[in-house]
Amino acid sequence: MGSNSLVSFNVKRLEGKVALITGGASGIGKSTAQLFVQHGAKVVIADIQDDLGSSICEQLGGHEIISYVHCDVTCDSDVKKAVDLAVSKYGKLDIMFNNAGIGDLETSILDISNERFKKVMDTNVYGGFLGAKHAARVMIPAKKGCILFTASVVLSVLGGFSEHPYVASKHAVVGLAKSLCVEMGQYGIRVNCISPHGVATPLLTKGTEIDKETLESLVSEAGVLKGKVLEEEDVAAAALYLASDESKYLSGVNLMVDGGYSITNPSLP
Ligand code: NAD
Repeated sequence: MGSNSLVSFNVKRLEGKVALITGGASGIGKSTAQLFVQHGAKVVIADIQDDLGSSICEQLGGHEIISYVHCDVTCDSDVKKAVDLAVSKYGKLDIMFNNAGIGDLETSILDISNERFKKVMDTNVYGGFLGAKHAARVMIPAKKGCILFTASVVLSVLGGFSEHPYVASKHAVVGLAKSLCVEMGQYGIRVNCISPHGVATPLLTKGTEIDKETLESLVSEAGVLKGKVLEEEDVAAAALYLASDESKYLSGVNLMVDGGYSITNPSLP
């Protein structure tokens, strides 16, 4: 039997591993932190929502298992501090999940301010670059590791809803991951993306008129799995797979967690 016989619901799939999750105080990042802890990982949550981040750590078992660090992903010294905390507290860094991101509400280029465009690119792209860079600093000498990015199915692969900065940023995230996977491969470091369709997190619901149920129903009807709702936990499960040794031969992948949406809405060449 190969090493993938590890696949079992009873096995802790990240036992002995250390993960850093940016944007871990809410939504997809929070659910992923919870699942990673359940599967035996030590986790550092890096976010700018300090109260939420700290209380999640308490709920999930406290400092022996999971820590919170204030980290604005657009700030080099903050990201360095978060990576260094994982190493100093838990001994190493195996999994870097560059998940923090912000979205857009404006849909016309005439309404999008220059500052907003820069902020979205800074958070979603530059933040991921800094995460990958500081993770690589400790993963390259270890000759192993896993770098994950949250992209977006609609907005990294397809066109989207004219949310120009967000669409541009998520295309860039996928490009960055593809480029990185080539260089990192020689060190045994895998680089992959996860592209969810719509999940009812604050990113999509905060500041909009749309409620959770309406959003879930719209997303559900858009995919091929009619009636099934995409939840944060489904994205976390994809992250668990890509972070675990079960996916040891996967690199350069953009895993769609989209209920088939990208099949029925194929991207233009
Ligand atoms: P969310 O708003 O619940 O979580 C995003 C987290 O990122 C928040 O905790 C926020 O505080 C944090 N964050 C924002 N700016 C930051 C910064 N500068 N430094 C550190 N942390 C920062 O939203 P979510 O849906 O869980 O989003 C997670 C990722 O998933 C994002 O990259 C988003 O683009 C992506 N995504 C979400 C969806 C969706 O439908 N919700 C779909 C596709 C992709």
